Order: sequence, then structure tokens, then C-alpha cells
Amino acid sequence: MNVPVIEARGVTRTYGEVRAVDGVDLDVAPGEIFGLIGHNGAGKSTLIRLVLGLVAPQAGEIRCMGVPVLGPAFRDVRRQLAYLPENVAFYENLTGLETLHFYAKLKGLTLSAARPLLDKVGLAHAAQRPLRGYSKGMRQRLGLAQALLGTPRLLVLDEPTTGLDPAGIREFYGILEDCRARGMTIILSSHNLAEIEGHLDRLALMSQGRVRATGNLDTLSRELDLPVQIALKLKPGVEQSFGAWLARETGLKLAPRGEGYGFTCTPARKMSVLAALATRGAEVLDIDLKRPSLEDVYLEHTAAFAGGSPC
Ligand code: ATP
Repeated sequence: MNVPVIEARGVTRTYGEVRAVDGVDLDVAPGEIFGLIGHNGAGKSTLIRLVLGLVAPQAGEIRCMGVPVLGPAFRDVRRQLAYLPENVAFYENLTGLETLHFYAKLKGLTLSAARPLLDKVGLAHAAQRPLRGYSKGMRQRLGLAQALLGTPRLLVLDEPTTGLDPAGIREFYGILEDCRARGMTIILSSHNLAEIEGHLDRLALMSQGRVRATGNLDTLSRELDLPVQIALKLKPGVEQSFGAWLARETGLKLAPRGEGYGFTCTPARKMSVLAALATRGAEVLDIDLKRPSLEDVYLEHTAAFAGGSPC
């Protein structure tokens, strides 16, 4: 089996009375896009800083690419990590290109790496402009370009899409998919559950410094037995008889939903209900299934812990 890129065991970090990260166990596999999800103050940024060796745990151990973080061999591993913090700070008087040149030099890379990255993040047109004239979204793009310098093996992004417009967000996730396809491992935290949902291989739900659940969205929603929503478009005039048949056959209750009708059922019953619906093909003009969203899973998990408002 491949060595996990990150292995955390019993990791704890406190600040005074606050247990920012509290006994966390976590594995992140090579080549996955892994999400840290949680409310404000859940401990996501602290966990990220622990993983990167920017702060030390008071208990537990973290290995990064098989090497203990903060141990003597971590120095070499660190060169293969890149981090985009939540608020990127740059020198305002440098241009975008000069900024990337500066970081390329710091990382011991040739300057030729800079321009293609500015193209990649959609900043080619602003390469010669000083950063004091950059918008928040442009700074985020530049931050991503800086993080990608040197093609790191692990890319860690804290709230990376803050300030990006919808097109920028789409481009951003396109770049991440491309990085993953080339074998990079990516850890990102976000509050925007709808936005992040389709891009994660696995995720950890955090609250009050603890990891409450890990897995992919399907597994987590099946574990919680969250209902699937089924929306129907019915032949006009059959609503009553169809509703009566559904109740008799399945015990489920049909209700008006938007321009059509719908009902919910457990994931375990989904296939048998669909099979029953297939026998009524003449009355059912269209069917839509909506599986539980990341927000549904998050809210169901955090409902048990009065740890803060949803994202
Ligand atoms: P957000 O989504 O708001 O960025 P987060 O999930 O990233 O939150 P953290 O920033 O990790 O949460 O904070 C977790 C807890 O630890 C919070 O209660 C925070 O106030 C506390 N904390 C984090 N860093 C420090 C610090 N340097 N000094 C004191 N307390 C801290």
C-alpha cells in the first residue's frame, strides 16, 4: 500500500483553554483531493498549520510523506509542500511577474517557471502591473501560481476561493483537477459546501477541534441514512390516483414540489421504489433523483454537537 501523504495520530494543539485541535487521527492518501470542512473556529487552519510544521502539537504525531513533521528529515520533505494561506500577503510594489520571480528564486527554481503559471491562473494580462492594483480575486490567483511553483507533491489550500468570481472558481477547480491528474495531493478547507462538493475525493468533518467523520460523500450520507429526494413529473389529471397507489404500494406520501410532485425515501429502499415507479410508466413523464448534499451531511453531523453555526 502507498504510504499516506499525511498520517496524524492523536494530534492535539491547545491555545490556553482552547483545544483548537483535539486528538485528531487522519490519513490523506497520495493523489486525492481531501477537504477539511467545519464551522468557524472548528480547527481547520490549526490542523493545516500542524500538518505543515508551522506549529508544533502538544500531543500526538504527524507524518508527512512518511517522515515525522518537525523531525530532522522533514527539511527535505518541506521543499515538496506548498501552502496557500487564507489571506495572502504580497509586496504591493512588485508586479505579478516580479512576485513570481521572487518566489522562484526563494525556491531555487529557474525564472522561466513564472510566466506559464501566470498564464495558467489567468493573470497573463496583469503580469507587469504592480500588486497594489490587484483585486482580491487576482491576489488569490497569484497565490495559487506561487503555490504551484516547482510542482509540489502536496498542495495545501486554506479557503482558496475567497474573492474569486464564479468563472474564477470554475477555473480554479479545473487547475486542481489538472494537478491531481498529474499525481499531486491536495488538501483544502472551505466554508462553501455547495462549491466544494463535486471536487472532493474524501473529506473530514471537523467540529470543536475534533474530526467527527471522514469518508466520501456517498459513504457519509449512507452512514447517516439520509433520505433521497425523488421528484416526479406526472401526466396531468393522474395526481390523486397516483398518490393513492404510491401510498398503498410503498407507504410513501406524494406531495407537491415545485412544478411537479415528489417524496423522499431511504437509500436502502431507493431501488425497489424506482422499480415500482417503472410499472407506472404511462403516468410518470419524468423522474429526478437528488442525493443528499454535502450541506445535508454536514448539518446532520454537526446537529449533534452544538459547536457553532453552520459554515
Ligand atoms: P475559520 O473557519 O474561522 O478560519 P478554523 O476552523 O480554521 O476557523 P482555527 O483558526 O483553527 O479554526 O481556530 C480554532 C480555535 O483555535 C479557535 O477557537 C481559535 O480562536 C483558536 N486559535 C487558533 N489559533 C490561535 C492562536 N494563535 N492563538 C490563540 N487561539 C488560537
